[in-house]
Amino acid sequence: MWPASSCLDAPCGAATEMNAEDPVDLIEAAAPAARRSRQARVRWGDHVVTIGGDAPVRVQSMTNTDTVDAVGTAIQVKELAQAGSELVRITVNTPEAAEAVPYIREQLDRMGIPVPLVGDFHYNGHRLLTDYPAMAQALSKYRINPGNVGKGDKKDRQFAQMIEVAARLDKVVRIGVNWGSLDQELLASLMDTNAQRRQPLDAKQVMYQALIQSALSSADYARELGLNPDHVIISCKVSGVQDLISVYRALARRCDYALHLGLTEAGMGTKGTVASATALGVLLQEGIGDTIRVSLTPQPGEARTQEVVVALEILQSLGLRNFNPSVTACPGCGRTTSTTFQELAKQIDDFLRAQMPVWKERYPGVENMKVAVMGCIVNGPGESKHADIGISLPGTGEAPAAPVFIDGQKAMTLRGEGIAQEFHRIVEDYIEKRFGSVTAAH
Ligand code: SF4
Repeated sequence: MWPASSCLDAPCGAATEMNAEDPVDLIEAAAPAARRSRQARVRWGDHVVTIGGDAPVRVQSMTNTDTVDAVGTAIQVKELAQAGSELVRITVNTPEAAEAVPYIREQLDRMGIPVPLVGDFHYNGHRLLTDYPAMAQALSKYRINPGNVGKGDKKDRQFAQMIEVAARLDKVVRIGVNWGSLDQELLASLMDTNAQRRQPLDAKQVMYQALIQSALSSADYARELGLNPDHVIISCKVSGVQDLISVYRALARRCDYALHLGLTEAGMGTKGTVASATALGVLLQEGIGDTIRVSLTPQPGEARTQEVVVALEILQSLGLRNFNPSVTACPGCGRTTSTTFQELAKQIDDFLRAQMPVWKERYPGVENMKVAVMGCIVNGPGESKHADIGISLPGTGEAPAAPVFIDGQKAMTLRGEGIAQEFHRIVEDYIEKRFGSVTAAH
């Protein structure tokens, strides 16, 4: 028997009807069974960004400028913040970089960029944080890698020096373990213990154990040294999707610290984007992760802000947060051989994103808007009705008319050469009428 759907043969696969009698469980995408973590408060001036607890999952990023170049770094921080990054990390690796940090903060304040700076320390953080108090103060959060704080008896001493500065200045600390720089003494000791077991664990399991133990024992020590436990954030980054999922599931069960989630060295372009989205998507859907970073290697000529664009899309796709109006577009197929609808979908998407820095102030709620741009009448009108505003362009052989739906009702039909421009104007009018009045009412 044929299914009742009228367009199951449509390659877009969108908006088909189901004939099955069994009810389908709803996936509560907007509210996964959240792991309730402690809440860190990242402060600078009068501003606060909360991480964990009931805060939304935060987006963060990292600059790739030389921190010594204070102006260049401040400009990139501004770009990342304007793209949607709620915290930005900078490398603090030399005395010159440490000296530049207060100027970067000053530049950002002068430009009115309300984003906290996170300092990334390896090897010499204990000296820099002690010798450059203005830098220690200008940063809102420190990232400390327990695998890179020193060896032997220096390790605890140097770690303690950094934590004491953080505790005194009431700063948030991310204890950020990375399997590329895992504490080798700890790993060797766990490997030895494992070798003595009657049934030794797989080497990978010992690696997971070492990552988690390095993070949690460092967190315990930081608390003993006086760091507020709410101000401890943990990460255990690895570069494999399945490894990340295993490690974070275990980490989430073993502590209530806020978790910084990210696939380290995710790679470039499509590979890095898909790997990050897959790993983070699984974990976020399980309520694991309080702040995310997508570690993309920029492709030549690609903006650093791409990692923020991907991070926002991951959260928006999961229904956890909305940042930009969404544009639904069909993939196209042999029923529409012109590229008009692809161009229109791209133009509308680019236009909406470009306007958002201004619109999010002027039109509160516009980020929840849904626009549909569809290639033909198979699923076009149906998908357009589900959107706030949608257009169904004529497919090959169809009458040269494009019905436009507004709030689920057919509002008009566009014809002729100027369909794209006219639809553009209709979208702007819709936004002004629907979301502009929200501003006026407040
Ligand atoms: S053109 Fe688009 S809406 Fe029409 S059948 Fe093809 S994919 Fe579906």
